[in-house]
Amino acid sequence: MSVDHINTRYIKVDQNNPKADAIAWAGLILRQGGLVAFPTETVYGLGADAANARAVARIFEAKGRPPDNPVIVHVASRSQLSALVASVPREAEILMDAFWPGPLTIILPAGRGVSEAVTAGLATVAVRMPDHPVALALIKAAGVPVAAPSANLSGKLSPTHAGHVLQDLDGRIEAILDGGPTGVGVESTVLDMTAEAPVILRPGGITSEELSACLGKVIIDSDVITGCYDGESPRSPGMKYTHYAPRAPLLLVTGNQQDVALKIRQIACAEKSGGRRVGILTYSDSSDFSAAGEVVVAGCRKKPETVAAGLYTALRCFNELGVDVILAEGLDEKGVGLAVMNRLKKAAGGRIIEV
Ligand code: AMP
Ligand code: MG
Repeated sequence: MSVDHINTRYIKVDQNNPKADAIAWAGLILRQGGLVAFPTETVYGLGADAANARAVARIFEAKGRPPDNPVIVHVASRSQLSALVASVPREAEILMDAFWPGPLTIILPAGRGVSEAVTAGLATVAVRMPDHPVALALIKAAGVPVAAPSANLSGKLSPTHAGHVLQDLDGRIEAILDGGPTGVGVESTVLDMTAEAPVILRPGGITSEELSACLGKVIIDSDVITGCYDGESPRSPGMKYTHYAPRAPLLLVTGNQQDVALKIRQIACAEKSGGRRVGILTYSDSSDFSAAGEVVVAGCRKKPETVAAGLYTALRCFNELGVDVILAEGLDEKGVGLAVMNRLKKAAGGRIIEV
């Protein structure tokens, strides 16, 4: 869908001490139905007043987002939940005590007043309190809950720097608040608390281990592990769309580290002899692939949180390098490694080799 060109205002804010007038100005834009991109601790979000159906519809237009994919509503205080959810079960309160503000999105029964533009017609709503001073100050200044998916064009890589937002959304939204790079680097964990047992629909910044320690058993939806949509109606509509995709096709190689390295070298060699430029996504504590292709390092495999923080920037690097194919080394699916692998599997779109 074509979107009228808007003059996007870009403003830098000190994340430790955001200037009150800049935040108040951005809050006013939201209250007037405008779109503001802002930093959170996960990735940059594209915010609109969640109570204004037209403003939320503009998020979908600006991103080119499929209309059946609901958005997460961000709050700055728990008192804002009363306008959004029908009830907060005791277990959800325990989660909020433990992980809010933080990268945990909780799916709860939607309150009656919640716009269909937010829920995409579902009976549930996704809510979270971000752990970022700029995000919290902006939501407070707006005085309303803020609907905000990631601030990228639909299907593209999520933005972890304000410059990434500009690349995708300049001319399509009213303002961008630049609070520097985000911390966690992958999106929030989405946890469904409306089923019999809690289900992780999207792995993210809060790990399944942390959730299990808090709640007892937590189920991981099978689509999270496969990274694919199996054709049944997904419990989280966003899971059926291709996501997190760099421009070149990505091949994910998983298994024992030595065998993976050997396989990557073999494939790189075959691709090069076919005249294609090869990119290799690897880690600082992996073997040296510099003879095999253009290497991009995304953190240290023993510390998956460093890989999460660098993942999207690393994948964007391959766009700039202009490679024809990307070979990515798999990681252990422990801790935030589960979220990293889920994003890599989605970026691979089924091109996964297990050695
Ligand atoms: P993003 O677009 O980056 O904000 O991601 C939001 C994710 O949360 C998408 O995968 C959505 O499908 C999912 N989501 C949002 N609201 C709901 C809901 N009510 N039920 C299930 N999944 C949801
Ligand atoms: Mg997104």
